[in-house]
Amino acid sequence: MSSFTLPTTLHDAHGRPLEYLRLAVTDRCNLRCFYCMPEEGIKYMPKHELLSYEEMLRLVEIMTHLGVRKVRLTGGEPFVRRDLVPFMERLAALPGLDDLSLTTNGVLTAPHVPTLARLGVKAVNLSLDTLDRQRFFEITRRDELPQVMRTFYALLDAGIQVKINAVVMDGRNIQDLVPLAELTRDLPVEVRFIEEMPFNGGSHVATPESLPWNHRRIRQHLEAHLGALVPAYTATGATADEYTIAGHQGRVGIIAAYSRTFCGTCNRLRLTAEGGIKTCLYDQGVLDLRAMLRGGATDQEIAQALSQAFYHRAANGFEAERLRPVHQLNFESMATIGG
Ligand code: SAM
Ligand code: SF4
Repeated sequence: MSSFTLPTTLHDAHGRPLEYLRLAVTDRCNLRCFYCMPEEGIKYMPKHELLSYEEMLRLVEIMTHLGVRKVRLTGGEPFVRRDLVPFMERLAALPGLDDLSLTTNGVLTAPHVPTLARLGVKAVNLSLDTLDRQRFFEITRRDELPQVMRTFYALLDAGIQVKINAVVMDGRNIQDLVPLAELTRDLPVEVRFIEEMPFNGGSHVATPESLPWNHRRIRQHLEAHLGALVPAYTATGATADEYTIAGHQGRVGIIAAYSRTFCGTCNRLRLTAEGGIKTCLYDQGVLDLRAMLRGGATDQEIAQALSQAFYHRAANGFEAERLRPVHQLNFESMATIGG
């Protein structure tokens, strides 16, 4: 790439550094999770509107010059996109990037676990909302729990740290919270419970009133069944509040994704599959990098546009939501936002 001069670590107007990129490699998925997408009628973007791997690599390289050290691949389901592994190999070789990880639903992941280990992937976030096959089917609308569990055990066998992501859904999987947290008793895994957000692509109407399981209630529920959740060290910029439980090898985490308690230390950018930049999960996209790439912008111009967008990001998710041109959050799906 051409060389250019800009500060090596960007900070926004609120003093938060840019360190971490969440990169959605596709908007496609092989599950239809109730909280993420409708069952039918999903309008995927035409393939030519998605960034190519070449375009993504160019953008990630520019971002490493602006301070990004960590990239998490997400989507949609990353393994649904063809040739993901060769792309990961090229990403892993980028100078300046020292943490490559991914979030996956685990359906297609198990055969790739040895490659992930070889590429130095230290931790994988595995989405799993229940250990019950029938409820898995009802939530994801696909009968794939056995494949996901295969991935879970393959990751453990390969020595890759597993963080389970479970969305807490009123009336859907409350009976699963304790069994999921129980996995931490004998296994060195982290099980993270996420407040449900309204980004469900029109799957259902989710208002604050229909999202009654906030982080406080989730903690109370777990403590009532498992004993005290003792606050543990949580890295700066992390979204999960982490806890230990006496006698458990692993940890439990709670992510206040809708209450937005973690904005003060947020260090991340999101690049959507069609090349949009989000500087907050709750904004509607603040920069069109695909237009810049395909319009012939130089690396320097892209870096400057990114710096401006990051500098002017909203103070928190509530401000970002207020500034959205379209206020209904369930018009969007987490599969296009990139988790
Ligand atoms: N398909 C991959 C997966 O499910 O792991 C990666 C993309 S998915 C959009 C990323 C994460 O977002 C998953 O852990 C999923 O549970 C979470 N997610 C999706 N929709 C959500 C919602 N409405 N509220 C909270 N979390 C959500
Ligand atoms: Fe697919 Fe992940 Fe969304 Fe479920 S949460 S539908 S697995 S993108």
